[in-house]
Amino acid sequence: MSIICNNISFKSTNLIDTDNSQESVIKSDLKTKLERSPEQDCIDFIKTQNKRPTLFSLLGKPIIESIDKKVKEAKQRKEIEAINKTCEKLIDNLTETQKIFQEVFMRKDLSEKETLEMIKRYHDIEIIGIKGDKETYIKELFKEAKSNYGIENLPNEIKIVYGNIRKNPKMLGYTDPFGDVQIRGDLSRKDIFNVVHHELRHVKQNYYAFNFNSEEFVKYSQPKNMEIPEEIFECAYDCKPDKSNIAPEYIEFAKKSLDAKKTYCSANKNENGYLAQWCEEDAFNTGNKMQNLFNL
Ligand SMILES: [Zn+2]
Repeated sequence: MSIICNNISFKSTNLIDTDNSQESVIKSDLKTKLERSPEQDCIDFIKTQNKRPTLFSLLGKPIIESIDKKVKEAKQRKEIEAINKTCEKLIDNLTETQKIFQEVFMRKDLSEKETLEMIKRYHDIEIIGIKGDKETYIKELFKEAKSNYGIENLPNEIKIVYGNIRKNPKMLGYTDPFGDVQIRGDLSRKDIFNVVHHELRHVKQNYYAFNFNSEEFVKYSQPKNMEIPEEIFECAYDCKPDKSNIAPEYIEFAKKSLDAKKTYCSANKNENGYLAQWCEEDAFNTGNKMQNLFNL
């Protein structure tokens, strides 16, 4: 299970890429400033003069660093303002937010109080992401989302990958049926937010499908190239087939997850087939819903 960059792009959260029109204006302004920065003037000066570094060129580096710092701080301020505003709105519309969280995490038990706490925690995690500690951001977000899905006791851990996942440059994330969730460490904040919720939805699908009918799940969830011994599947979640682990309203979800496993089509065999899979559609919808909710 993976994500192909169909509706999730590789764009980084740099200054000049966004699909938010309001932000585009701000970023376009910053872009203009950057285009006329002393950095470029300095480089041009050295090129045209073609001689030993002068006092001006020696001062160039601190000037560049100072400009970079200011641009970075301005960008961070805008992003912090945006997430503050979004979270305030989610709190103002708490009942609606609660409903969306209940759908996304398949937790009809989620109360308004829990919803409020979740929004606050997401806010704090986004601040970490904005300030730039990406690994901490990914780990905290994963922990938070896993707990929100109600699967914090499952063994899946997050693994940050630099470079291609499973040798596929299009793959942004990957979930072993009973193993680690992998995510690329070079993704933008909005893509990380989307992919973490996407991959954990797969974990939830697997958990329900396995509990609905473990024998069938094991039969169809073991890609031939993975070489995972069946015993791992049998004891992975330390649970025996027990439909009581699935709330009655989610039995249909468990059945659909299992049926999709039977005809699962990997991306390297048929990209369109892969994107049309019920499991993938369900995970894409979930990731996109969360990304849109937080206006990322
Ligand atoms: Zn997927």
